Amino acid sequence: MHKRNSKLVLQFTLVLCALSFVPFLYFYNQLSMLEVKTAQNVEQLNRNKLEYAKAELNSSMAKISSSIRYLAHNNILLQAIKNPTPSNLDALEDFWLLIARTQGYYSQLRILSPEGMELVRVNSGEHFIEVVDQSDLQFKGDRDYFKYAKTLKPQQMGTFGIDLEVENGVVVRPLTPAYRILFPISYNSQTIGYFVVNLDLLRLYKNLAYKGLADNLPNIATDQGYYLMSSQGSNIMGHLLNDNSEQNLAIQYPSLWRIVQLRESGTAKGDHGWFSFTKSSIGDSARENNLIIFLTTDFSEAQAFSDHERHAIYQQAALISIILLLLTFSFVTWNFNHRKNSLDSKIARAAMNGMSAMVITDRNNRIVQVNEEFTRASGYKLEDVKGKPPSLFSSGKHSQDFYIKMWRALKEDGLWEGEVVNKRQDGSEITEILRIQTVKDKQDTIQFYVASFIDITQRKSLENRLRELSLKDPLTSLWNRRKFDSEMQTHSARYRRYQSSEGSTLALIDIDHFKRINDQYGHDQGDEVIKEVADSLTEQLRETDIIARIGGEEFALIMPHTELKEAEVVLNRIRIAVNLNSQKNVTVSVGITEISDVPEETYKRADIALYESKSLGRNQVSVLSVVESQSFA
Ligand code: GH3
Ligand code: MG
Ligand code: MG
Repeated sequence: MHKRNSKLVLQFTLVLCALSFVPFLYFYNQLSMLEVKTAQNVEQLNRNKLEYAKAELNSSMAKISSSIRYLAHNNILLQAIKNPTPSNLDALEDFWLLIARTQGYYSQLRILSPEGMELVRVNSGEHFIEVVDQSDLQFKGDRDYFKYAKTLKPQQMGTFGIDLEVENGVVVRPLTPAYRILFPISYNSQTIGYFVVNLDLLRLYKNLAYKGLADNLPNIATDQGYYLMSSQGSNIMGHLLNDNSEQNLAIQYPSLWRIVQLRESGTAKGDHGWFSFTKSSIGDSARENNLIIFLTTDFSEAQAFSDHERHAIYQQAALISIILLLLTFSFVTWNFNHRKNSLDSKIARAAMNGMSAMVITDRNNRIVQVNEEFTRASGYKLEDVKGKPPSLFSSGKHSQDFYIKMWRALKEDGLWEGEVVNKRQDGSEITEILRIQTVKDKQDTIQFYVASFIDITQRKSLENRLRELSLKDPLTSLWNRRKFDSEMQTHSARYRRYQSSEGSTLALIDIDHFKRINDQYGHDQGDEVIKEVADSLTEQLRETDIIARIGGEEFALIMPHTELKEAEVVLNRIRIAVNLNSQKNVTVSVGITEISDVPEETYKRADIALYESKSLGRNQVSVLSVVESQSFA
């Protein structure tokens, strides 16, 4: 049982795997395509954001650059340097305040003396603009950017690049990126001062958001991977302080970093999500800052693009899975039943061709199948009997009552067993031990009758022969005394029942002077004489008469439906025939009487009549009727 179950489970699994293979490939392909589509979506969306940011950055830088050139060549600036009278300085400060207010990119606008001393300075932030007091102006001659400014040719704009904002020698907190543009101002080929502009990179950065949405703001990193600007706003510029080094693309996304180094822009899949980037640069060729503008998109965020389609694929897959499960289940069940049925039919075939003859009839009792043994026993082939009723085999030996009982048993018990005499195709009788069984459907309606039988004809005739032999006299083959006694009982009983109907007669026949024959010819010849007499008796009698040898040379004859008178005639004819047939002039004496209700009395009367024949000289027939015997008494 357990083994069969695990076999079924194995079969179920194998069939399911086989059936699922193609659908699995299909859905795998669909999901892969969706993945590609998702990547395309992410790439498309991020490319827009990145390209916008890049274009915006470049155009801002271009605008700033031309604006600075204009400011550098401005006469108010030149006058303030050349001739720093309070009114000239005031004019410059007012002009710069206006500029700072209208163009929000600048965090500082300054003039430095050729030695590096701040001469004029306007500070600007998101929410303030101020002119720095003369007393607060600082010396910047020792700063690197100033040293760099001194290397520039007159009227040549230079960028120092990205640095941290430092005030009075201390790094400004929170960390603020500084981007300085330097411009030596010359007059008569003499450098008379430096125009220094600090860009407010954070404000510049905020303008890079596609459609002005903060969510679309990309991150910006250096070509070394360090974050410069991040929408999160923290942990930036770490490389300039030698800390926060983990806020570095090369460390965060090592595999992606390799792609970033190889390509100008693109989208790649990382461990946590999609990564899109493009490259740009700011600054002049001498101190160019290469930048990486990038965006990350979580898988969950990316999947939202194709949630609808993915859902549809999952739904399809679920539906197909259910169908496959049902199909597999149906197949395995069908296969199981098919095997079982074919086993059942093999068993049925084996049973059909067994030792007993079989006939199957349908619910209308028409023959649908017979087996080989049936054909052998009855002589009928299937084509001879198909569609016919089994009453075809009837021998007429059974009463109607017999068949009524048989059908009742079949209806009530579904089974009948018994001995039946039927007829073979050649007309001969066949005795069968027959068993009929019904086959019912689920509604308990009979669908078939299965009859099987064993041919016992031979056994039966043997039995009959043995029974007969036990009642026969071996010398003459006539009935013996036992049979005679039982027949006497039967006829007496019949007399008791039907006294009015015509009676039967008993005759006792004894060979005259048999002792002499024995003596004269010997015992064997004596036996021959007994046989001769027996043959003569048999010859002369009717089939219905019962003749028995009831003693050494005594015979008894029961003649049913025979009156005494008629019997007397018959026995006289017999008496003469015996004598005529005999070589040795044998005669017999006979006593006859009616068979009445008591066998012993009948016998006694016949014996008296026989005695009378003997005493009257033998070779004659004497009659003693019941009436005569009563008058004796
Ligand atoms: P009766 O005319 O009075 O009948 O004279 P009977 O000689 O026939 O006398 P009974 O009937 O008394 O004698 C019968 C004899 O038949 C006796 C016996 O020896 C002989 N016998 C009996 N049975 C057999 C037998 O089976 N074979 C032969 N050969 N003789 C038998
Ligand atoms: Mg005798
Ligand atoms: Mg005798």
